Amino acid sequence: MSFADLKRKSQANFEFLQKELEKSSSSNGADDRLWKPELDASGNGYAVIRFLPAPEGETVPWAKVYNHAFKGPGGWLIDNCPTTNGSKCPICASNTRLWNSGHESDKAIARDRKRKLSYYSNIYVIGDPKNPENQDRVFLFKYGKKIHDKIIAAMQPEFQDETPVNVFDFWEGANFKIKIKTIGGYWNYDASEFVSPSALLSDDDEMEKIWKQTYSLEAFTSASEFKSYEDLEARMNVVLGNTPQSHQVQNEEEEDPVPVVNFRERNEVSVSSLKSDDEDNDALSYFARLAEED
Ligand SMILES: [Zn+2]
Repeated sequence: MSFADLKRKSQANFEFLQKELEKSSSSNGADDRLWKPELDASGNGYAVIRFLPAPEGETVPWAKVYNHAFKGPGGWLIDNCPTTNGSKCPICASNTRLWNSGHESDKAIARDRKRKLSYYSNIYVIGDPKNPENQDRVFLFKYGKKIHDKIIAAMQPEFQDETPVNVFDFWEGANFKIKIKTIGGYWNYDASEFVSPSALLSDDDEMEKIWKQTYSLEAFTSASEFKSYEDLEARMNVVLGNTPQSHQVQNEEEEDPVPVVNFRERNEVSVSSLKSDDEDNDALSYFARLAEED
């Protein structure tokens, strides 16, 4: 979008964001826009979904977000990582120092605090045996590197005998079978696969209706989703129990009380196990649990 377009669409953009805000707030605080697969009693999960094109006015059909989620003596730190948008991150900087110290114990700490990668896409649920009420509905789907790699493999196949498929396309795309196995307590998505390409539906009008229900993905990486370097550093110090740096505060009342409030809220969160076969789903299952606890 050009700058002139930005100016021209200023009001429309604002109205769009207002609608997104309404969509994203729900009565119990959990984000009911998000779809999650669920396991059956045998520890397997199965569902069929279709990845959808980028919403109107946006160009990329996924959002890529890094975040940090770890616990220190002062509670949990759960924040988006500013490197998502190419900005500096105090936690990543601290991790680099720890990693470079050469001590294995420091490396372990850095691993625990490292940024985790998540993707978000709009999906249409074709089959969800565990929760049939989700069928024929549009959701956001949060996924990790493993599923993203399967998308890339379909779009940019390694071998000449395979035809690239834009899996986000209504007409030329392909349904995705999610197959989850529990292996050693970890969710494993290896068996998930795209099926042969086909139109999602035969009726363009119906597909347009689906497209109109898609959620903004750019909203996930908007500036409002990220703390400033200073605020994130302050939060990190609270969580790690570090003595606050003695910066000169001219007026004590101007100190931001938010980190303390966050500390209390998040200190109440307890997470007994963070198990997953890929790091991204640590965050995935963790946030799923958080949503349930809220
Ligand atoms: Zn970071």
